[in-house]
Amino acid sequence: MEFPIDHDLHCHSMLSKCSNDPEQTAENILRHAKRNGYTVQCITDHLWDAAVPGPNSFYESQNIAHVRQLLPLPKDDQVRMVFGCETEFFGGTRLGLDPANYDQFDFIVIPPNHFHMTCPAEYDTEEKAAELFVERLEGISRLPLPWRKVGIAHITCGLIFREGDQWLVYRLVDEKRYRAVMRKFAALGAGIEINVSSFGPSWHDHEDDALRLYRMAKDEGCKFYLASDAHHPDALDRIPERAPEIVKLLGLKGEDQFTI
Ligand SMILES: [Zn+2]
Ligand SMILES: [Zn+2]
Repeated sequence: MEFPIDHDLHCHSMLSKCSNDPEQTAENILRHAKRNGYTVQCITDHLWDAAVPGPNSFYESQNIAHVRQLLPLPKDDQVRMVFGCETEFFGGTRLGLDPANYDQFDFIVIPPNHFHMTCPAEYDTEEKAAELFVERLEGISRLPLPWRKVGIAHITCGLIFREGDQWLVYRLVDEKRYRAVMRKFAALGAGIEINVSSFGPSWHDHEDDALRLYRMAKDEGCKFYLASDAHHPDALDRIPERAPEIVKLLGLKGEDQFTI
């Protein structure tokens, strides 16, 4: 069976501060999903739970009451609409969602590399960013999470090192430690995200670096899902535009799909 291009498990509505686009409504997102034959569409606005102390200024207003304004999601008999969130991880045990509130979401996306916000200043080279990335993945893997409804967001993402060469960072990720943590995610049942927004126009110049981390995750038995990470309506199209090629290059089949 082919890996289906029929879902988007990570996108943002207007309730994410960095979207704030009146056109980015749940209804418009559903309309796009229907038009493209999806069976599942999840909306994951940025979230920092008010029950967890110390959000930064970006997250101050992104609490559960705020993102729940999206509910109830529109219903549809073709597309299952799923309420999720993209929370934040600062290392250690610092996750932006309190375990008491896990059941408020049907999918929880956790980024290991929002380093524009979560990286200490001393991590100022590609080597150090690669080291911190693996450490954050290991940190996430030790959290008491409801793993069957957890996605590890954009394992490649330009935010990992805006100061330099993101492709070099992926090349420098320690293979042994990375494989071990991916093996652990596979055993726990978490999904690994293929975030098509990470595959912008220049990625073909860096194909091996861009795919390296996904290939190793696949070797270790991980399951994958597609994500547009759209903040505006036009970016929703990146899944039908970009995903078929990426899926093919990775050799993903139906059995490699993570589902919620
Ligand atoms: Zn993100
Ligand atoms: Zn996102």
